Amino acid sequence: MPEFQNPVAGFGVTFKAMFKKRLTEQYPEEKKPTAPRFHGRHQLNRHPDGLEKCIGCELCAWACPADAIYVEGADNTDEERYSPGERYGRVYQINYLRCILCGLCVEACPTRALTMTNEYELADRSRESLIYTKEELLAGLEETMVDSPHAIYPGMTEKDYYKGLVTEAAPGTVRQTATSKGEKADGNSQEKGARA
Ligand code: SF4
Ligand code: SF4
Repeated sequence: MPEFQNPVAGFGVTFKAMFKKRLTEQYPEEKKPTAPRFHGRHQLNRHPDGLEKCIGCELCAWACPADAIYVEGADNTDEERYSPGERYGRVYQINYLRCILCGLCVEACPTRALTMTNEYELADRSRESLIYTKEELLAGLEETMVDSPHAIYPGMTEKDYYKGLVTEAAPGTVRQTATSKGEKADGNSQEKGARA
């Protein structure tokens, strides 16, 4: 090619690119769905009547290679019941500054209380806001549910919940007064960032 044609040949590349499909992602205005099994933010699940599946066993915290989970279990009482069995997770925190979204905590959970959603927007400006508390991680309420704490379904046992025999809150179920939820022994509200 004669030397004077070189600049024109260069524009050829530009013109070809102009008619190609644009690859620019318009995030955050347009969000693309993730793969169905993408590991995103965690969720603490509930039974169909609204009681919590977490039993405060701490197995997820022990399994975590990044030491990102902090759990404190406590005993249920008939006046204040969060889960069908003996124990529940009174304090539950995940530190997303440490979490590597590996999913080992989900594998360790014996009750399927802990699962992962597809939510990936986990950026913020402060350390505190990236330590998610139980209130932030707990699944929302569906139509069949009453918020915990509340009484166990009449005539049902903890095992019956896991057999799938409880499909909705019993008629007349009301939320009990929550006095200890996420609170420390001295009555102060849950201290956020225990593992910051
Ligand atoms: S996903 Fe992995 S790093 Fe994150 S809390 Fe669970 S076990 Fe820890
Ligand atoms: S989420 Fe599962 S493994 Fe973790 S404390 Fe609760 S029941 Fe135990």
